[in-house]
Amino acid sequence: MTGVIQPALRADDRGERLRLLHVHAHPDDESSKGAATTARYVAEGAEVMVATCTGGERGSILNPNMDRPDVLANIAEIRRQEMDAARRILGIEQVWLGFVDSGLPEGDPLPPLPEGSFGTLDPEEACLPLVEVVRRFRPHVMTTYDERGGYPHPDHIMCNRISVAAYEHAADPDFHPELGAAWQVPKLYYSFGFHLDKTTAIHGAMTSRGLKSPYEERLRDWKPDPEMENRITTRVPCGEYFEVRDRALIAHATQIDPEGFFFQVPLELQQEAWPTEDWELVRTTVATRLPEDDLFAGIAVPVAG
Ligand SMILES: [Zn+2]
Repeated sequence: MTGVIQPALRADDRGERLRLLHVHAHPDDESSKGAATTARYVAEGAEVMVATCTGGERGSILNPNMDRPDVLANIAEIRRQEMDAARRILGIEQVWLGFVDSGLPEGDPLPPLPEGSFGTLDPEEACLPLVEVVRRFRPHVMTTYDERGGYPHPDHIMCNRISVAAYEHAADPDFHPELGAAWQVPKLYYSFGFHLDKTTAIHGAMTSRGLKSPYEERLRDWKPDPEMENRITTRVPCGEYFEVRDRALIAHATQIDPEGFFFQVPLELQQEAWPTEDWELVRTTVATRLPEDDLFAGIAVPVAG
């Protein structure tokens, strides 16, 4: 299924439409991480595909208005419908890789992950459906989370592992040739969501206007990690698409409280304080100069006419 196809403003050097593949752990992650970047590239005529590792079956209901027995009883189906709605809002294609959500383990000591869940799998095996997606879609750019998962959810960490494995194996013609012709993805990125510089900037913008910042407590407990901050190579300007991101996020009604944390910072203030989404370039086969402001730097050329 394809969203509305925009005329392409840029293409690769063979005149092909630009293709971007995001790999995400759960339905809703595509809308909370890098979604304004997605919306911007879709508006510029790129094809964007999201591969969703799990069905989000073990996610809690995080919106009090949706915390009802009938919703809980049908959570897997409801999350598929929410994903469909978000997919249409973002104008993307989306595929399910078919793994089972591990849930976020809680307690001390942490309980073991449910048997057979995504977080327990061997990445060398679990990368196979993603290798097939990469070889079929042939992305110019692929994104995933950093090796720590962006935040320590076992499915997010496994998402990183299968993405890196698929990135490497998809290019090897001897690796499972039945999964399609080898494809070398030119660039691989890790997403950086609410990192310290960004959170500090938004917090400062809120307090300087006399508004109550939702980040007060989080910042107080935040241990600075300059090494992590310094990893950002690429800041994609996408402030005008924050509104699309928010609509996609709200489509995941079981996961997002429209009155909650995410929506306490006015959009204009976010656009002013931090109008980019930020990424780390971790592999590239094309020449590019860092820092970048475009995931397709070194790949995209303007379409003539
Ligand atoms: Zn997730």
